[in-house]
Amino acid sequence: MHYTARMVFMPDHAVLRVALPLPLPRLFDYRTPPGIAADAGWIGCRVRVPFGKQERIGVVAAVGAAQTDPAGLKCVAARLDASALLTGELWHSLHWAARYYQAPLGEMLATALPNALANGAEPADTRLLGWQLSVAGHIAVSSMRDGAPKRLARKLHHGPMAPTRLDQELPGWRSAARTLAARGLAQTVVLDAEPSRVAEPGPALHPEQAAAVSAIVGHLGAFQPLLLEGVTGSGKTEVYLEAIRACLARGQQSLVLVPEIGLTPQTLHRFRRRLGVPVLAFHSGLSDSERAAAWLRMARNEAQVLVGTRSAVFAPLPAAGLIVVDEEHDGSYKQHEGVRYHARDLALVRGQQLGIPVLLGSATPALESLAHARAGRYRYLRLSQRAGNAQPPQVRVIDIRKRPLEAGLSRQMIDAIAACLARGEQALVFKNRRGYAPVLICHDCGWRAQCRHCDAMLTVHERGRRLLCHHCGARQTAPPACPDCASLALQAQGAGTERIEDALTAQFPDATVLRVDRQSTRGRDGLERLLDTLGDRPGILVGTQMLAKGHDLPKLTLVAVVGVDEGLFSADFRAPERLAQLLIQVSGRAGRAERPGEVLLQTHHPDHPLLAALLAGGYRAFADGELGEREAAGFPPFAYLALLRAEAATHEAVSAFFAEAKTLALTLRAALPEAAAGLALHGPVPAPMARRAGQVRAQLLLSAAQRPARQALLARWIPALYELASARRVRWSIDVDPIDLY
Ligand code: ADP
Ligand code: ZN
Ligand code: ZN
Repeated sequence: MHYTARMVFMPDHAVLRVALPLPLPRLFDYRTPPGIAADAGWIGCRVRVPFGKQERIGVVAAVGAAQTDPAGLKCVAARLDASALLTGELWHSLHWAARYYQAPLGEMLATALPNALANGAEPADTRLLGWQLSVAGHIAVSSMRDGAPKRLARKLHHGPMAPTRLDQELPGWRSAARTLAARGLAQTVVLDAEPSRVAEPGPALHPEQAAAVSAIVGHLGAFQPLLLEGVTGSGKTEVYLEAIRACLARGQQSLVLVPEIGLTPQTLHRFRRRLGVPVLAFHSGLSDSERAAAWLRMARNEAQVLVGTRSAVFAPLPAAGLIVVDEEHDGSYKQHEGVRYHARDLALVRGQQLGIPVLLGSATPALESLAHARAGRYRYLRLSQRAGNAQPPQVRVIDIRKRPLEAGLSRQMIDAIAACLARGEQALVFKNRRGYAPVLICHDCGWRAQCRHCDAMLTVHERGRRLLCHHCGARQTAPPACPDCASLALQAQGAGTERIEDALTAQFPDATVLRVDRQSTRGRDGLERLLDTLGDRPGILVGTQMLAKGHDLPKLTLVAVVGVDEGLFSADFRAPERLAQLLIQVSGRAGRAERPGEVLLQTHHPDHPLLAALLAGGYRAFADGELGEREAAGFPPFAYLALLRAEAATHEAVSAFFAEAKTLALTLRAALPEAAAGLALHGPVPAPMARRAGQVRAQLLLSAAQRPARQALLARWIPALYELASARRVRWSIDVDPIDLY
């Protein structure tokens, strides 16, 4: 397929039309250096150009006649790519995405390129770099002190090794390598090729898995979305692996997207072991140059499999075979700043352009995806049982009305944990949402610790020593006494994971209690290392979302969920879906090996319809009911939304902007051919957090019964917003298909 428009006639005064990463909906014209023609070969290449007093990196989007006198134009400072960096399908999809998300093309391209390339780095040498000892290193090995550097040195003593193998054999080796390098004992070396390994065979697929694999393989070579629904542990990853092997056999590339918390070293090891080919990783834990190298290796078809988080959806796929989106319902696929794209949705767009199947997998599919499957647009595949011998867990609701609680835990929960420990097994106490961390209140006068910059409470950390705002990051030490009444009766209210940890440690002094959160798992492989300290011993894990998925913990047989109620009553129309997904996901952690699992849900609302539907009919029953409610209320997937947000130091600035923006939208709507029935504007209303970091915030919601009507209005409205005088006094953004309204 040819996507690049090639000009047949090129006037002498043709100029380069450059997309720059600026919040302006236009391209910028530049002249080529004297004697060099502005021909189509420039399109898709990066250039460095003068802009104001600085220079910027942009991408040549088009070549054409100058809009103004070319003599007045500046000349590009440098051409950074000999041939186009962005071409073919990816180039085309990025143009599509810029239009769909109403983003300036330059911002879209800068979002899609790995940082190093967007910042103008030289396209790196992507030959495989490994590590080897220097001569001094070989001599020093035997006399080194025990520790990670010595362990690494002893491995390298036998010869150079590739990073992928080191990842496998010596987790945490990178800091050891830096230590050795700093002492001149080790250095990087170009390896000829990744030592090829024999792919380990997988288990014999059970019939549902085999049927899913053959359905996917049957669609290779043509666009087809497939939705694979199966609980955690039902063997979805085995299905992905087999489908990817089929692509490898055809010489094709596969892209696997995983949620942020899903990309563990365990996952990568499993893919590498089972595929027997280099598997590239792409995530925020890698350095800029590592990410650029992975991107380029895919672009050059030097690697066939890439596993990555959200932004990996922009990986070039010149020999595309398959895109897999694991946990496709996961919120981390949506970008929340800059260009607010959704990686799952873009994966589908790319699959369509590439003519390849796109496999969406989940235990709890997004209602959008289920609706597509029901309408027959997605092929629906199901794994109804857990693989191996694993039994589905028993779920019980614990009514805690009028019951005494200990750090938020009921007696029944504590008894169940005690029984679990007595059996020599592990329990997970799961606290819904980090955002419900405890706040500091004065027991005498009711004073509450509030952020100075936001409409938000500060949350208590480090056992009450520090206060932190989760919205603007402000932190302070906790006051020793109430600032209002000087009472010393300050206490943390609401059971955060730290308080639960303390209460459990007091209850079970002999058991290991591990709190799993961002602080306790900081650093590379932090979660891995923390879980390793527990191993197979009986113990209790206390944590939030981070523990909902990932790691196989075969000894884990009890999952106790607290904080269910916070999710039952929320203004956000997606809150029930999120809660149901979370409950199913976290339940999936119990009993993954031979032992049956048990799940306890502690609530003040045992008869709530959401819990009743989930208990009686599982996610399916919940989803059926919820889709009915969404349709009746006119919410996605039965409506198409876009959210205009703005913030400024003053109320007046925000109001003036929204007044102008809304008037403009109403005028444009009236002029749309179809009279745009079903296009409605709601608001403006104050944002869920009406003040944040000192800024006043509000939002205006656009909803449409049909996607084309929404896109038609956006295409006229958003470019015009840049022209409004009032827009220059606020910071505004447009979010197409927002996932957080409240
Ligand atoms: P999911 O991705 O749905 O969570 P996995 O593919 O990780 O499930 O499978 C869960 C566990 O069951 C893994 O340990 C996997 O090796 C094992 N497993 C998967 N399929 C089979 C099978 N057909 N026979 C035996 N074990 C299997
Ligand atoms: Zn007080
Ligand atoms: Zn704040």
